[in-house]
Amino acid sequence: MENKSNKRILIIDDDVDILQALSVKLKKQGYTVLEAKDGISGLDRLKKELPDMVMVDVHMPDIDGFEFCRQAASLSEKKHIPIMVMTAQDDQDSVNKAYEEGATDFITKPINYAKLEHRLRFLLRTSEMAEKLVNRECQLLAAQNIAKMGEWVYDIETKEFKCSDAVAKIFAIDKEAISSYEDLMSYVIDEDIKDIDSVLENVDESQKYYNFEYSIKAGDGVNKRIRQIIDINIDDPIMSGKVFGIFQDVSQIREAEQKVKTLSLYDSLTNLPNRQFFKRILKKTIASSERYERRFALLDVNLDNFMRINTNLGHDVGDKLLFDVSQRLSQTLRDSDEISRDCDQEITNSCLLAHLGGDNFVLLLTDINSADAAAVVARRIQNIFETTFHIADDEIHLSVSIGISLYPDDGLDVDEMLKKVSIALHNAKQTGRNCYRFYTEEMNTLTFQRLSMENSLRKAIVRQQFVLYYQPKISLLDNKIAGAEALIRWNHPDMGMVSPADFIPLAETTGLIVPMTDWVIVEACRQLGQWRRNGLTLESVAINITPASLLDKNINEHIFKNLQLAGVEAKRLDFEITESVLMDDVDVILPILKELRDFGATISIDDFGTGYSSLSYLKRLPISKLKIDKSFILDLMQDKDNAIIVKSVINLAHNLGLRVIAEGVEQSEQLEYLKEHGCDVIQGYYYSRPLPAKEFQQWVMKYEEERINAEQAINIAS
Ligand code: C2E
Ligand code: MG
Ligand code: MG
Repeated sequence: MENKSNKRILIIDDDVDILQALSVKLKKQGYTVLEAKDGISGLDRLKKELPDMVMVDVHMPDIDGFEFCRQAASLSEKKHIPIMVMTAQDDQDSVNKAYEEGATDFITKPINYAKLEHRLRFLLRTSEMAEKLVNRECQLLAAQNIAKMGEWVYDIETKEFKCSDAVAKIFAIDKEAISSYEDLMSYVIDEDIKDIDSVLENVDESQKYYNFEYSIKAGDGVNKRIRQIIDINIDDPIMSGKVFGIFQDVSQIREAEQKVKTLSLYDSLTNLPNRQFFKRILKKTIASSERYERRFALLDVNLDNFMRINTNLGHDVGDKLLFDVSQRLSQTLRDSDEISRDCDQEITNSCLLAHLGGDNFVLLLTDINSADAAAVVARRIQNIFETTFHIADDEIHLSVSIGISLYPDDGLDVDEMLKKVSIALHNAKQTGRNCYRFYTEEMNTLTFQRLSMENSLRKAIVRQQFVLYYQPKISLLDNKIAGAEALIRWNHPDMGMVSPADFIPLAETTGLIVPMTDWVIVEACRQLGQWRRNGLTLESVAINITPASLLDKNINEHIFKNLQLAGVEAKRLDFEITESVLMDDVDVILPILKELRDFGATISIDDFGTGYSSLSYLKRLPISKLKIDKSFILDLMQDKDNAIIVKSVINLAHNLGLRVIAEGVEQSEQLEYLKEHGCDVIQGYYYSRPLPAKEFQQWVMKYEEERINAEQAINIAS
């Protein structure tokens, strides 16, 4: 059942009787009725209340029905409201005039109510449909506006072309200026798309759907990317004989896509081409160098000790520094060479800089005549690092190592060229950094050996190939055993006992030193516990520890846990840290060392004299002992300078409250000299070489027995 109460009908009539009678009738039929006794108040109600329909008398004193229709048309723009004019029976002229002024229907007086009911229902339903249609059209327009889309239709037979306002907007031209499809096609600037103009000329029924994309220069001179879809639906009875199509402005979408593509090819930190982009360019360069028989060089530019900057100054400073480095590199290279940035272009430029990640930059020098040209660029790059970098309050000194590989001499494809350049870089790093190295075949062999050594080193812990040897330390005050130093050995199945000098540097560069030191800690603690159970209590055992291990946050926890497990006090452990490496990371390592000291362990400076630290600087550290490097001791008796240095170091260290250990003592003369000048402890072949645990225990027992016997003999003699 249709609900009429939500339909509001406005009745306007100056004849109050008719007005009321009509009102009563309509209310009875279920409508909501609004009333007005004259044209002006009728217009007012119409404006304010926007009824669903109006019934208006033609003849009224103030404004008549015609004037009402005229004014109503301009009032109700938002909503189409049907107006029914009420006329006298034989007044055909009024009916005609009313239609002209915008009336929708008419009814004659006296009113036939049965007829009226049908007419009202019909009018209201049509007006509702019309309103819905208008709404749909508005929504469609809004949707097209959002999608920047406009539609057109072409009649195949009459060749009439019609397009929407949106099409004119997309092409930025007046709609009146568009009389044909060709008018629009004249704005297309993509030369390679010729077939689109003739689509309508040669409608092909077998191909019903066309999808093009091209660029236009719109009427306002702006370049746009346009997508065009054409649908030929001859089977559809409504569209029969017509071609329907849309234009869509896809400029923004394509721009965004291009941006994403660009972002994926450039490194966000430095704005330089990234690894993916660089490899693509390298591939093209190889292809064109092969075709034109040209040479090129690859330079792998790596910052020295960059890890330290990140650790000591934080990643923000590290990132800023990388950016500054990239700027300096780009600037220097741009001054003399051009840097290509468009990956789709033929490579004709002579220089391209990319950031492969971390502290690694790579440079591609194309079309060079000789290796010398690459060396010149390498030296120029080194020069720019001579000036310090300033980041916030930090003044940072940097150096670079550079590896160089040449095409076609060193490799013929991307992977080979990259592999060779990184071998050359590795060699530059090994040679002491701050230098450049060209790739050589010999390096390849060395790298191969290093890689296989690295491989077996990785497996050494699990395969239980490491052993700890112990070398005693003797107190010169009373000849008692002052402790031992734990020294690692690698019992390699093929190579036999490998010296730490041969594998510790490799363990350090590969990071394997960290799990290796963890193992040393476990083993030394276990051994101390075992000796204690065997009745042998050493004053302390020294463990060599590198900054990499100390930078590992869990190191102290690991130490304390293993001490507990073995039932050994912390004071039984001494940690030897090499002077030269300690200085670089002192701020980060200091709190870790302090925690160890507070817990009871002691810290010694190893290889003292090989670094550049002053004794007063060392005083900041929680150390208690200083080990004079064996290079000073070995030729102590021959080299007067060394003798003086050793003497002064002992004095100064004592003034600072530190104990002094001399390592590398082989002869009794060395021992006598050290004793004479107050050295506290000595370690060296004079007493014993480093020994396996079992032999060490036997050695200690024998030594103690002899020492006690000797002491007793002295006592008896005196
Ligand atoms: P270092 O800590 O300075 O150890 C002393 C080195 O001097 C040992 O070499 C020792 O065998 C040797 N030495 C002792 N007395 C004499 C002597 O009278 N004459 C001569 N010519 N040499 C003597 P080693 O065992 O070959 O160790 C070499 C280096 O390897 C050590 O030097 C240390 O820096 C490192 N290292 C050894 N074990 C470990 C370890 O477990 N962890 C770490 N991080 N480094 C270790
Ligand atoms: Mg040592
Ligand atoms: Mg040493």
